[in-house]
Amino acid sequence: MPSISEHYDVVIIGAGLGGLECGYILTKKGYDVCILERHHKPGGCLQSYRRGGRLFDTGFHYVGGLDKGQPLHTLFDYFGLMNLDWHRLDTNGFDEVILSDKSYLFHNGYDEFAQQLSESFPHQKENLKRYVSLLKKVGDGILDGFRPKESEELTRESLFSRSAWNFLEETVSDPTLRNVLSGTSLKMDLAKDSLPLYIFAQINSSFIRSAWRLKGGGDTIASSLTESIQKMGGTVICNAEVVELIESKGLIIEAALKGGERIAADRFISDIHPATTISLLKNSQNIRAIYRKRMSALHNTTGTFTVSISLLPGKRQYLNRNQFIYDCRDVWEPSTDGIIDRAMVSWMIPEHGDTAECVDLLTPLPWKEVERWSGTKPMKRGEEYEEYKSRKAEELIGFVSRHGILSPDDIQSVHTSTPLSWENYTASPEGASYGIVKDWKDPLRTILTPKTPVPNLFLTGQNLNLHGILGVSMTSFITCSTLTGERIFL
Ligand SMILES: Cc1cc2nc3c(=O)[nH]c(=O)nc-3n(C[C@H](O)[C@H](O)[C@H](O)COP(=O)(O)OP(=O)(O)OC[C@H]3O[C@@H](n4cnc5c(N)ncnc54)[C@H](O)[C@@H]3O)c2cc1C
Repeated sequence: MPSISEHYDVVIIGAGLGGLECGYILTKKGYDVCILERHHKPGGCLQSYRRGGRLFDTGFHYVGGLDKGQPLHTLFDYFGLMNLDWHRLDTNGFDEVILSDKSYLFHNGYDEFAQQLSESFPHQKENLKRYVSLLKKVGDGILDGFRPKESEELTRESLFSRSAWNFLEETVSDPTLRNVLSGTSLKMDLAKDSLPLYIFAQINSSFIRSAWRLKGGGDTIASSLTESIQKMGGTVICNAEVVELIESKGLIIEAALKGGERIAADRFISDIHPATTISLLKNSQNIRAIYRKRMSALHNTTGTFTVSISLLPGKRQYLNRNQFIYDCRDVWEPSTDGIIDRAMVSWMIPEHGDTAECVDLLTPLPWKEVERWSGTKPMKRGEEYEEYKSRKAEELIGFVSRHGILSPDDIQSVHTSTPLSWENYTASPEGASYGIVKDWKDPLRTILTPKTPVPNLFLTGQNLNLHGILGVSMTSFITCSTLTGERIFL
């Protein structure tokens, strides 16, 4: 472990995207920052790994809004991430939704998007215009958290209190079109009774603006941020699991690590699950039992089962779009227990040549399917678990193959991950893919702010505000502004 300075201005728990970005912002502002990460490398959900010479990603497939002037470009430019090897997805079909074997392509540009889908749904032309108009307005206002509010109706707060499903039902009368418009939303937890309009509109809007993959994988984001932080004088320590936050006279004074070391600071930011954060405060005069109960009662989003496939050379053309396949009547209803009826297919940019080398198949996987193995260690979960994963992988490959996207004959090797893997690698409770469930019916309880009852402890990351690369990046600015008391923006 590198030498540890006596006392930092800010200690950050967790080197996921949120922790690294907060570290970057504060180090750049002159704070002496130390980031503590329990894993052997930074990145959290952004880790990539190699098997048999091939590169695989975990929690990164594509991002939206990276064209100059678009929201993520503005944020990533600040973080020095625009130098990475970004590749634009097909503007005339960055996403493809396949519903009952019919294919629908998503075009970039709000007008083009509406126009293209109007060709399949001519009777919904005006509704599509209304749909994209709302998405555009919400997308235009994404950075409003840092600026004075202009339209009360479209503030983040008001959109968090509105139902995504109600908006869709009111705006679009054709149920098939509703399915199509929601069809790329495996990147959020579609739930009629909880998903806030803000999340649905903001995420979909950003991809309609422009959609991008990253050659080299999500790891390159984490490495670039880590290197920049270190160059600016900040500290990132891996294999440093925080097991307790020590409070004295109403303030946190130290983070205690698994090995026994203690790292002192004036202020602390937690990039980990809020309930886990609060559990680190074992003796706190600030945290009342009711607050602990509220945090531990927060529901978690569904986890993901991923089959990462290494393809035989020259078998499949690389596809510059994502595919979302459904065999169900209503994409907003969860799958029947144990049945695979939906999948996302994400092709990785080949490292050599034009033909595809790796492809990921993803499908939601409820915690209850793997819960019986929780508490076991990776590689030691037993034969039954290995058999379960192989069977599940076969089913998912079979589902995708039946739609002609892949053939088992194309496959060289397969690696799988379940919510248990996520729980192990990122300490995300129940292996939740997108943090806690935000609920439009209960925004006061489920839409958390960076502040906690402890005045010098702040939260960041995907459990607040909006998940995903864009959401976490916005939240990092909000957290740092709250911590410093000054509005930090470009
Ligand atoms: C399968 C999947 C696919 C995804 N695909 C996309 C995509 O294509 N596009 C997109 O925009 N978003 C995607 N996301 C979402 C995106 O990856 C996340 O929203 C984002 O990376 C979360 O960052 P975070 O910093 O909030 O949390 P995390 O990445 O979970 O980081 C938390 C960090 O804290 C560390 N930690 C935990 N406990 C401790 C402790 N006690 N002490 C020290 N360290 C600790 C963890 O090890 C971890 O490194 C995907 C997510 C998943 C799961």
